[in-house]
Amino acid sequence: MSNQPEKITALYCRLSRDDEQDGLSGSIKNQQSILDKYAKDNGFRNPRFFVDDGFSGVTFTRPSFMEMMDLAEQGKIGTIIVKDHSRLGRNRLVVGQLLEEDFERLDVRYIAVMDNIDTAKGISDLVPMQDLFNEWHAKNTSQKVRNVLRNKGLSGAPLTTIPPFGYKKNPDNPKEWLVDEPAAEVVKRIFDMCVAGFGPTQIAKKLKVDKVMTPTEYWRSIGKPYRRLSTVPYGWSADTVGNILSRQEYIGDTVNFRTTSKSFKNKKRLERPQEEWQIFKDTHPAIIDEETFLLVQELREHRRRPTRHGTISMFSGLLYCADCGEKLYYNAMDSKRQHPYFFCSSYRKNSDVCSAHYIREEVVAGIVLESMQRVFWYVQSFEKDFAMKQMAAFGEEKKKELSMKRRELEKTKKRVREIDSLIQKIYEDNVSRKISDERFATMSMAFEDEQKQLKTSIPDMEQYLETETNKSDSLQRFIDRVKCVTQLTELTPETVHEFIEKIVVSNPEYIGGKRHQSLEIYYNGVGIVREPSPEEMEELFQEHMQNRKSSQNSKTA
Ligand SMILES: [Zn+2]
Repeated sequence: MSNQPEKITALYCRLSRDDEQDGLSGSIKNQQSILDKYAKDNGFRNPRFFVDDGFSGVTFTRPSFMEMMDLAEQGKIGTIIVKDHSRLGRNRLVVGQLLEEDFERLDVRYIAVMDNIDTAKGISDLVPMQDLFNEWHAKNTSQKVRNVLRNKGLSGAPLTTIPPFGYKKNPDNPKEWLVDEPAAEVVKRIFDMCVAGFGPTQIAKKLKVDKVMTPTEYWRSIGKPYRRLSTVPYGWSADTVGNILSRQEYIGDTVNFRTTSKSFKNKKRLERPQEEWQIFKDTHPAIIDEETFLLVQELREHRRRPTRHGTISMFSGLLYCADCGEKLYYNAMDSKRQHPYFFCSSYRKNSDVCSAHYIREEVVAGIVLESMQRVFWYVQSFEKDFAMKQMAAFGEEKKKELSMKRRELEKTKKRVREIDSLIQKIYEDNVSRKISDERFATMSMAFEDEQKQLKTSIPDMEQYLETETNKSDSLQRFIDRVKCVTQLTELTPETVHEFIEKIVVSNPEYIGGKRHQSLEIYYNGVGIVREPSPEEMEELFQEHMQNRKSSQNSKTA
């Protein structure tokens, strides 16, 4: 029977509150009697109970378990017997390691009575478990690899092995990125074209016409054969352009953990949610300034799609239907772009759902230009009055609440960062053998759980703060930007997208045979601007003239 009579036969029992609830493993007493009987029936000598009462299977810092493992390390334990496999632990990563590595290394026989596992009976008995073991093992290795990558990523060193188009590695220090001028020029051009209102498809076409080398062609031309060349020369695609337009690296930031592989089994790269990205500011020189970059993201979010004829409107993506809330589509196809117009997209799909909300582009342009001129004049001349009116609805109470929320958010973020360094710390301790692999696994798991929870709460908090708080900040930003505009005589895609968030178009009404259609213009950061009425305007204007006169008088006096 047992060929290790001098060694201890460890009878390990564990019960946690969760187990108690689901009543699966019975009481400690029940476990003990099963193990006692099994040991006696099978002639295991020198039995000794190790009991952890009230400990979850997820953690491995259980006193009796640790004591048992200590004795095993000292070579004093011949066999470990548990009632069922889950008594050992519910963390497959750690359990897998115990079975695969530790027990074998320590020459410990392991038996899980109810699961019919006995390491002494050879691998054949383990066949039903074999898949699971493989998974444990693979998962374990994969986790280790990820931890190493993670460690690298947390320190701000770029994880991408190839710098994005526009950068090159410093030959003296491959971790450092330098601006690759010729490529950076192309990147700048792409951003400029986007700001000027061109979509990725149009930009790609233009680059092709101008015979601009694609990233691959460029890298080839400087002797870096990264990938296969496409068969079409200058074959820019909308995807390539779109990808360039979305890379935050161009403003000097390092973005790590943008993608992940789903698991050790599935290596396909998956886009991660943005809040999980690790962003390090100013790690290398910027090619695009932040303002332009943000504007481009904004423009791209509105996804101005060209029509089949390739024309786009500076208002595309900004117009919404007042009745169904959907976007208005642009149509420039009829009569050679004489009267391009917008109409409700729901209506196009199903005319029962909504009405056309037809509006000509030039009508929109006229109304928007006039509104912007009035608003700009108002802001530039009566900044304080304007700011006061906009802030009127924004009470003191709200401000207090928001500053509290902001502190809360900061605290959460700080803890998230703290956990990163804690994980790094225990990883280092693990590498230098200060803490065991099991302990590392348990601890890092706990930290990651906590961090995951915190991270999921961050976007909601930020969203709330962004929409609520920054009303005063964005108001100031809006005022500052308006003050930069000297004279607005015509609309450009840049001004429209810089200042306007959306335009809500009502269905036309016919009053006395005349067509009336109202537009609500939402300005970026401030929403609908409460413009003064013509009377108020007159009053303000008189006041303005009065002030000017008196200030001139005081100057001449
Ligand atoms: Zn509609």
